[in-house]
Parts: sequence; C-alpha cells; structure tokens
Amino acid sequence: MAKKNLPYDEKYYDREIETMPRPELEKLQLERLNEELAFAYANSPYYHREWDKLGLDGHVESLEEFYEKYPFTDKQAERDCQGVGSFFGEMSAVPEDDVVYMATSSGSTGVPTMSPFTQQDFEDFQHAQSRLFWQAGMRPNDRYLHGMNFALYVGGPDVIGAQELGAVGIWVGAVPSARLLWAMKQYQPTYMWSSPSYAWLLGQKAIEQGYDPKVDFASMKCFIISGEPGGSIETTRKAIEDLWGVTVYDFFGLSDIYGACAGMCEYKDGLHIIEDQILVECVDPATGKPVPDGERGEITYTTLCKRARPNIRFRSGDIGWIDRSQCKCGRTHTRIHIAGRKDEMFIVSAVNVFPSDIEYVVRNEPAVTGEYRIRVYDENYTTKYEVSVERAIGSDEPFDSVAKRVEDDLKTHTGVRPAKVLVYETDKLGVSAEHKAKRFIDERKSAQ
Ligand SMILES: [Zn+2]
Repeated sequence: MAKKNLPYDEKYYDREIETMPRPELEKLQLERLNEELAFAYANSPYYHREWDKLGLDGHVESLEEFYEKYPFTDKQAERDCQGVGSFFGEMSAVPEDDVVYMATSSGSTGVPTMSPFTQQDFEDFQHAQSRLFWQAGMRPNDRYLHGMNFALYVGGPDVIGAQELGAVGIWVGAVPSARLLWAMKQYQPTYMWSSPSYAWLLGQKAIEQGYDPKVDFASMKCFIISGEPGGSIETTRKAIEDLWGVTVYDFFGLSDIYGACAGMCEYKDGLHIIEDQILVECVDPATGKPVPDGERGEITYTTLCKRARPNIRFRSGDIGWIDRSQCKCGRTHTRIHIAGRKDEMFIVSAVNVFPSDIEYVVRNEPAVTGEYRIRVYDENYTTKYEVSVERAIGSDEPFDSVAKRVEDDLKTHTGVRPAKVLVYETDKLGVSAEHKAKRFIDERKSAQ
C-alpha cells in the first residue's frame, strides 16, 4: 500500500469513510455484508451447512433482517472447525494457496485458534491500523517503537500499519525490559504500544534503573495500550500519562479479526470501530437479543471484507456497550466501551461487577499504590469478593484506616461492599508481571 502523503494537519486518514453520514455508512455495510455472506455461503462448508439448516442463502434485504435471522458463531465453533476437511478447516472460505499470513489466539481460553488472512485481508488489516494510528495522532515524522510480540500474535504486524502512514517502524519485539529501555534511550521513539500493566511496570523498572521517564525518554509523546480493560479506565490512563509524561490512547483488537479493530480519538470517550470493515452489535449474553445502545451486553462482530475466514456474528465474550451517536471529533463510526470479559463478571447482591470497576477505584484512591488483586469466592451459597491493595509509598496511615477508605470507595462506585479489603506494605502484593497481570482469582464453583 502506497503512502498517502496527507498534510500533517489533516485530521482524518480516510475523510470520506470516517465521516460518512450513518445512512450512507449503513448502506455500504449492507452491500459489503451481502458480498461477505454470499462468499461465505458459497465457499465455507461450515456456514453453508449451518445456514442451510435455517433455510438461509447468504442474502439479506436489511441489517435488521441479518440480526434477526443469522446464527451466532464463537470461539468454540472456530475450534471445532479447525483442521476439519482442510488445514484451516471448514470455517475458512478460501483454499490454502490464497492464504499469505496466519496469527493465532493466545490460547488463554483453550486450544489456540488459527486466524488466516488472504493478501487482500492483510492489506485491509494494515490499512485499518494506519487509520487508527493516524487517529491517535501519529504522523510521518514519528518514530514508532514496536515492542510487541511477533510470535504468532496478531498485534505483531501492526508495525506495518505505522510504516504505511510514513512513520519509522522500529521492530524491537517483545524483549526484556532492560533491553527495551536501552532501545528507547538509543532510538528516542515518539510512540510505543503495550498492555496498560506493562506500560506501568516498564516505568517502574525505568525508575529502579535510575532513569527519570519524563526526562530520559522525553521524545515519547504517546503510549498506545491494549489487551486489558485498563486502557479504558480513565484513572489507569492518567497514572501512565503522569508516569511517562505522555498521552495514552486505548486500542482494541482480537486475533479472530485484526490486531486493532478499534481505537480512541482525541476525545477518549470509547473506541471508534472501523465500521466500514466490521459490523458491531451488542446482545444480551443470555438470550442473544439486541440490547439498546448504552446498555451493557456481549459485543459481537461480523467481518465485512475478510475472506480467508469470515466471522459472522462472532460472540467475543467481552461485555460492554456501544454508542452510535456522532462523536465530537466528527467521526460517525460507532464507539465501543468494554467493561471486561464475560467470564470475569461476578454478581454480588444482584449487582454485576467487573474487575475493571475495582481497578477504577484503586487507581483513584491516593491512600494505595494502585496495585490490586481480587478474589471472588462462594460462601453460604452467596458470591463474595475481597480486594488486596498496597499502602501508598511513604504512607504511615494505619492499615485498618486504609482498608476502610477503599471499602467505602468500592461501595460508592460499584454499589456493593467487599467482604474484606486486605492491605499490604508497598510492593508486597507481588502482582506485577511482564505479561498480562494476574489480578483476578476466581474461586467460584461456576469457575471450576
Ligand atoms: Zn471521536
């Protein structure tokens, strides 16, 4: 894909697409959806069989008809199809000869699933990454240090998207933090991408090694973060921004589609999904019926252009809400807000609580460091939760007083008081990890 040579003050990477009035955008989606459905019906044994059972032939008159009639798919269906009949399996819609790239899921919820791309799929993917980077302020005079894993991980190739818009791609990969800090000092990047917990940890490591992140890495303008709900929690973003002296943008992707499918604009009120390529819905996790915009449900995606393995009404397992109203930035594409994974939601006294709700509280309470661990368990047939925190650096406030504050904050923000708040000395909680931090311990019977 050729560089576009847009002026630096051009706000949109694809002005026409990004600001398209919704009726036109939905018309484009319907056209592309019908192409995708027809392609899947003709070429994917899985979709052909499943839709035949329901008398569907891969054509709809409206998006509403699609939502009403077409069945969902999910991770389990991907897994069951994998390797059946061909290498990429029966959900795939192209011969293996047409596949040029594959990523896999992390396998955190079972056997990893392969995600194949045709040449065109891969180009669409990188073009989408360029658009999201541009939306996050990246320009051709930026240096993008890519500290992401390349090993089968769909976020690996995102660096090509930065290059497509003209930035310098610095392919560092997932390396130990001392090496990464060395590369940052040496090459003075302006943009980086990591998980929120790693952006925080790396800053702490930098301080331990005698760096002052704001001074020694003064070139840094922006951290893009993804992979954990923290990026959408304002207090978490603020903590990383203050630590590094940067602005933080949250991105969201899934291995089943692209490294990033959605990202924040400068207003940081939800993540714009690339709706010309992905149709998004929010459904009741129990009934599968659509929930009104703004209400929490399971976010569900349909690929409109991806041919190697179309994902039609793919239930992501993420609980969140969607907002179709026009954003102040002028973009018309739907914004998604993700609260957390469906299997991490717990219900206490009829209130739905996510680990991200608790993170919001502990990152906002000055009496503690912001590190935390949550344990959810059953007692007398009732679900309860306890939260462990660390007392703030240099504080001598009594532990029971710190605990009381956090308890009160949690009650105010989530609506339910924790069974207990355990307070540790600074740095004694031991949850910091180089990868996704293990902060959630689920001992509910339903989780066994
Ligand atoms: Zn916006």
